[in-house]
Amino acid sequence: MFMHNKRLQYTVRVSEPNPVLASLMLEQFGGADGELAAAMRYFTQGLGEVDPGRKDLLLDIATEELSHLEVIGSIVAMLNKGAKAQLAEGAMKEAELYLSMTAGGNSHTQSLLYGGGPSLTNSSGVPWTAAYVDSRGEPTCDLRSNIAAEARAKIVYERLINITDDPGIKDALGFLMTREVAHQKSFEKALYAIEDNFPAGKLPGIEKYSNLYVNTSQGEGDEVGPWNSGDQWERIDDLTETMPIDDGDGDATVKLSASDRAVAEKLAARTASDPTSNPETGVDLGAGPGAGMITGDNLGGAKDIKDAVKTADKK
Ligand code: MN
Ligand code: MN
Repeated sequence: MFMHNKRLQYTVRVSEPNPVLASLMLEQFGGADGELAAAMRYFTQGLGEVDPGRKDLLLDIATEELSHLEVIGSIVAMLNKGAKAQLAEGAMKEAELYLSMTAGGNSHTQSLLYGGGPSLTNSSGVPWTAAYVDSRGEPTCDLRSNIAAEARAKIVYERLINITDDPGIKDALGFLMTREVAHQKSFEKALYAIEDNFPAGKLPGIEKYSNLYVNTSQGEGDEVGPWNSGDQWERIDDLTETMPIDDGDGDATVKLSASDRAVAEKLAARTASDPTSNPETGVDLGAGPGAGMITGDNLGGAKDIKDAVKTADKK
């Protein structure tokens, strides 16, 4: 069960209203790497988790992310507080209100449509979607994705800190950013607390393919590094000699029943192309200046195919 404590996890002190900054802060409220996405990611993973340690960790962090959602949402609400009241009461002159609402970003949508309350959108006004959560229900996959999600959230907070000079907002965002650092460390520990955590799943990789590095982009710019060279790697540079990589002929085949084969042959015959044809098409008929070469241009000065045939007949 959830219980709500009226105090925030971290105190929010906003110096002055700023609707444009509010709309930017929404990136961490309803955006891809925002707090709602984080809370839903860990909450749903926690519900499906069978390991008691991971279940506890996921539900702890999910609930903390909801507390972060409350902090960042409160920052948005404070930044919009002036605009919200002015718009609701119609106290300002129309022209002044118009100017205050259209100062930039999508702050006008936040005011007009959402009334200055924190909306479950990203900073461009795109509604939150469950597609931001990429859980697969396999702990080594999901923990790796969680580690990356915490890294992304840390970076977006860092960018938000860099665009505001409001000391109270900087302070609260610094706290939120740092908690993502701590979460990343917990998820790394949980991943490595699974003894064999690579590769994901139960089936082993096929030995002879698991150490190959295939140099498929060749030419100037080929680089050598620990990711493709050294004792661990078997490098393939001669692609034409080594493909296909198995012992087969590199062709794609399937055994068809007699009736499937007969129909497939009919389909192939009906849609066969004639490489010796040179059909006149719509672009030839409608061609004007700028059309480039058209079919008639290849007909020795004849204006169209019919004309070319007539000229040829006379000769
Ligand atoms: Mn968070
Ligand atoms: Mn986090």
